[in-house]
Amino acid sequence: MNNIIDGTKVSIEIRQEIKKIIEEENITPKLAVIQVGDNKASDVYVRNKKKACLDVGINFELIKFNDTISEDLVINEIKRLNNDISVNGILVQLPLPTGFDEGKIINVIDPVKDVDGLTYQNVGNLVLENDCLVPCTPLGVMQLLKYYNVDLTSKNVCLVGRSNLVGKPLIQLLLKENATLSICHSKSLDIKNYTKNADVLIVAAGHPNLITKDMVKEGVVVIDVGINKEGNVLKGDVDFEGVSKKASLITPVPGGVGPMTVACLLKNVVKAYKIQN
Ligand code: NAP
Repeated sequence: MNNIIDGTKVSIEIRQEIKKIIEEENITPKLAVIQVGDNKASDVYVRNKKKACLDVGINFELIKFNDTISEDLVINEIKRLNNDISVNGILVQLPLPTGFDEGKIINVIDPVKDVDGLTYQNVGNLVLENDCLVPCTPLGVMQLLKYYNVDLTSKNVCLVGRSNLVGKPLIQLLLKENATLSICHSKSLDIKNYTKNADVLIVAAGHPNLITKDMVKEGVVVIDVGINKEGNVLKGDVDFEGVSKKASLITPVPGGVGPMTVACLLKNVVKAYKIQN
């Protein structure tokens, strides 16, 4: 099929570009990741981030605490990293174990080192359309649309999901490209009314097969952010088999948005380095 958006291919190109910049400019950016507790999925994500960093020449440090650590000690560690000039990016691997105040902890990160773009300052700057560090997955979605020449001006874009990590930053990024938005969430009634009108449909809900063929129009561009584990199989939120028959472009899962998230993290670490130097 020639309507597949190949996130793996695009992400490899981005990684090569980053590697080239690091080599040519002879810089050594560094990412520090804080992980609290034992979460198998987080272990995999952190391993992937580490490999991706080392592959392009970004130094990587993992600071892993067990879940008995106090919030104050995590905060002290972030403050230490804020003051360490060899560290350019700080990322707290989410989710944190129950009982930890994610908002409080994340907002201790110096905004110029906040490579996940989740501090109040970066969120505010995104809303105000000031240059800032933008969350990696929404950035990856926008890069894919750009790479495949999807012009968003005046298009009806339907976004399913309004999380702080994915949906909300995407609202700002899509508005900036002059899209007309409809935003659906778990309290929306009959989301088909909105998805059916979409020229571009972006889904980040975390429900396999939420979007089926009857819910989209012919020629739609579909970005499936969802990652759902069914046994040993990864599935998106979109019924790929059915929807891909109507879509002009569609991301697979895996191999769509996922690899772009990691590539955009690398981009953010280099951007953070440049802001600081
Ligand atoms: P989240 O925080 O759980 O948010 C899910 C959003 O979807 C919420 O806004 C929720 O509405 C909405 N929603 C849930 N069920 C719905 C339904 N039946 N109809 C319409 N809306 C519904 O999840 P997230 O962090 O945004 O992640 C979403 C998905 O993307 C997950 O599968 C996650 O694993 C995946 N993800 C992938 C990447 C990647 O790199 N590819 C990165 C991050 C996340 P309410 O606001 O009303 O609760």
